[in-house]
Amino acid sequence: MQLFDVAIVGGGPAGSSCAAFCAMAGLQSLVLDREKFPREKVCGDCLNPSCWPVLERLKLAEQVRDLPHSKLCSVEFISIDGRGVTVDLPSGADGEISVKRSLFDDLLLRGARELGANVHEQTTVTGLSRNDYWNIETASGDFIQARILIGADGRNSTVAHLCNLLPRPARERVALQAHIPLPRDFGKRIVLQFLPEGYSGQASVNETQLNLCLVGTPPTISKLRRWAEHQFQLPADQGWRTITPLTRSPVPSAHENLFFVGDAARVVEPFTGEGIYYALQSGELAANAIAKILRGDDRNSVLREFGRAYAQMYRGRLWINRLARAAVLRPQLGSLFVHAARIRPEIIKFLTGKIVERL
Ligand SMILES: Cc1cc2nc3c(=O)[nH]c(=O)nc-3n(C[C@H](O)[C@H](O)[C@H](O)COP(=O)(O)OP(=O)(O)OC[C@H]3O[C@@H](n4cnc5c(N)ncnc54)[C@H](O)[C@@H]3O)c2cc1C
Repeated sequence: MQLFDVAIVGGGPAGSSCAAFCAMAGLQSLVLDREKFPREKVCGDCLNPSCWPVLERLKLAEQVRDLPHSKLCSVEFISIDGRGVTVDLPSGADGEISVKRSLFDDLLLRGARELGANVHEQTTVTGLSRNDYWNIETASGDFIQARILIGADGRNSTVAHLCNLLPRPARERVALQAHIPLPRDFGKRIVLQFLPEGYSGQASVNETQLNLCLVGTPPTISKLRRWAEHQFQLPADQGWRTITPLTRSPVPSAHENLFFVGDAARVVEPFTGEGIYYALQSGELAANAIAKILRGDDRNSVLREFGRAYAQMYRGRLWINRLARAAVLRPQLGSLFVHAARIRPEIIKFLTGKIVERL
């Protein structure tokens, strides 16, 4: 049985970033993902400008810009009563774009593979045990061994579950997402719309398609779907992707020979559209720490350094995300905020600016 330095469960942005940086450091890495790529994923498809520096270090920034995408010029916040306030987004090549996750994630995973990472698609991890090394069991009954294990398998992380680290799911909300025909004159904007039962996010992803997300509670989500069918004249048999939970408690990122990255470690409210950045960046931080541990650096000081860099990634942003969560959990409150922002737009400009500044 082949022994890998690092086995990464999940080939989304966090897993691909981690695998690519491990491969750059000369480590034998393996990515296991249950899906066959390219695959879609419930997401608003927006790339926060903070992603660009990581994509440049991955040498993929230009290839991402070559994918079909929309350059997003503004974000419009709309209250329940339909009144809106618009904030401009940074312009230029390093601004916010939207790109379908099928294209983006496939490019990242191929990038990791080209750097030397092994990738096993359609391989679901179902079991874990540990002696000297991690023994990873897959649904097809195969076993894989690795020195270090990475949980990059998203918000419902199997790795965290198998290690008894996954927080109990609270009564949480649910999201629906679809790509629908782009309404005429929609423009290059993101729309974040408060609705009595939750909220909707909308952004064009190319010349012909709109990404439409709906977030509500299990009892209200069908009402939101009916709103969307009416608003966008969707057929009754419109297909939707779905995911839950929208947020949950974090899982500590670093353990002995075990790291969690991306959503597997921490899920943030999607309203601010930052999850892909945290996934890419935490994948890189974990890869750097693993390379140092495997070449014999002092484990404790490596983990302390990792912990500091990991906390730094969220510093100055998490409070805005919490504010956004408070607003979306009570859409009436979110709407009052939009009304206030129409009178004093500098508040919402400041908050939006903090989220979309390039780090
Ligand atoms: C409604 C909504 C809108 C959002 N909008 C945005 C946005 O506009 N911009 C933004 O930046 N973020 C957004 N996010 C957040 C973003 O989607 C996530 O933060 C991001 O996908 C996290 O990447 P990841 O690599 O950690 O996990 P994922 O992208 O979830 O990838 C995890 C991978 O693990 C694989 N996997 C899972 N279990 C197993 C298993 N047992 N065995 C093998 N493989 C497994 C899955 O197939 C998947 O490919 C949104 C989220 C939601 C819910």
